[in-house]
Amino acid sequence: MKLRLTYTPENVGEPILSKLILAKGLEVNIIEARISGDRGTMIVDVPLRGDEVQGVVEFLRERGVRVESIAPLIELDEGECIYCGACVSPCPVQAIRMEGWRGIRIDQDRCIRCMICVNACPMRAIRAV
Ligand code: SF4
Ligand code: SF4
Repeated sequence: MKLRLTYTPENVGEPILSKLILAKGLEVNIIEARISGDRGTMIVDVPLRGDEVQGVVEFLRERGVRVESIAPLIELDEGECIYCGACVSPCPVQAIRMEGWRGIRIDQDRCIRCMICVNACPMRAIRAV
């Protein structure tokens, strides 16, 4: 599950994610982190079963972190896509593939939101969400 975490000036200096990892025994993959002065956002991928989600969200919210579920990370506008394939080979994790002559599939679980495909697309048919 991919989550967007937003830190406030009150908690941005605390190692809240480290405490979560230790407390819950989770493997957390940080996909994106932007810390600027007194604020910060992170996108993390946490392998959670359905019954674990609430505990993790509560742990973070109790410490003042805003938690939002995000899916998908990347969106394709099929009306703009011309199926040229220019986004496929640059993807570093093989998250995009062509399906037949008129099909592009994005595997959101593989995507690391690097934005390479967004910049590679001549039609601006892919965007980060
Ligand atoms: S954002 Fe990066 S990882 Fe995700 S599909 Fe595009 S190129 Fe691949
Ligand atoms: S690069 Fe853009 S137009 Fe070309 S296949 Fe990918 S999404 Fe479609």
